[in-house]
Amino acid sequence: MQILVTGGAGFIGSNYVRFLLENREDDVVTLDALTYAGSLDNLDGVLDHPRHEFVEGSICDADLVEDLVADADTIVNFAAESHVDRSIDGAQSFVRTNVEGTQTLLEAAVDADIDRFLQISTDEVYGQILDGIFSEDDRLNPRNPYAATKASADLLAKSYGTTHGLPVLITRTCNNFGPRQHTEKLIPKFIRNAAAGDELPVYGDGSNVREWIYVEDNCSALDVVLREGEPGEIYNIGSGEERTNLEVTEAILDAVGGSDDQITFVEDRAGHDQRYALETDKIERLGWEPQWSFEDGLEQTVDYHRP
Ligand code: NAD
Repeated sequence: MQILVTGGAGFIGSNYVRFLLENREDDVVTLDALTYAGSLDNLDGVLDHPRHEFVEGSICDADLVEDLVADADTIVNFAAESHVDRSIDGAQSFVRTNVEGTQTLLEAAVDADIDRFLQISTDEVYGQILDGIFSEDDRLNPRNPYAATKASADLLAKSYGTTHGLPVLITRTCNNFGPRQHTEKLIPKFIRNAAAGDELPVYGDGSNVREWIYVEDNCSALDVVLREGEPGEIYNIGSGEERTNLEVTEAILDAVGGSDDQITFVEDRAGHDQRYALETDKIERLGWEPQWSFEDGLEQTVDYHRP
């Protein structure tokens, strides 16, 4: 089987390309535009793997996408603009890649009679939840431009399933952490700041809650959905490991050996969602469960990101 992995030079995509080459027999083609968020360093050691080919380009380039999709059996679409703060500053590139790019891939997939199309989505499409957990049937209520473009892509992907019979699967994962995450994101940034003795700027009062999954667990979950999931279905991927941002910050300072004096509280993100949390019964019925605790994952992550 040939799998086209888009966004495979980014954080989760590069971990997934590694997962496939290490654990599966498939040929992998990585398509990535190498924006500021992507780097060939993330594919260090697997770039020249005999079952791997890297192509630099955009999922918005219809001709290129058509060529690549023609040879692929399966598409896994990670490619996205992914940083919420940047989407608040300006959302045009988010609409372009996350919505138009996904549509370009979907269109090519219909024409090429693709076996499976896995759209990688996020818990943020549900919006915030103060008590309880989101199931896959809950309504979409994205509250920032990034989440809105991801929700749009989910709806488009689902519609190509219903209208064109494309075998689309959608995964919605909680916050990932681990090796190869861009240093603009909370955990890598705070690890580096903690190690350098710099301030760790926490939004608001630090009480916002996120569910954290170690990226290796997300990769195994995505693979289970790709192989065992039912086309047309949506699968939440979560860990149950909820932490406030302040708890995450303190855990990083503990692990790195920094001081709580390094914590500063800064003006909150506009429209900052208070809490996300996911019900995961559906993916667990496929036989998947997370292997990593937050603490064990953080130890690995600190080892990787500490300068
Ligand atoms: P990332 O920003 O680290 O990587 C995105 C990759 O996409 C980069 O390599 C970038 O170069 C590439 N890219 C951007 N625009 C492109 C385009 N037009 N064509 C081709 N490639 C392009 O993001 P990530 O954290 O690895 O997230 C990957 C996917 O997982 C995204 O779809 C994101 O919405 C989703 N997701 C992420 C998280 C998380 O916690 N990081 C959680 C849930 C879902």
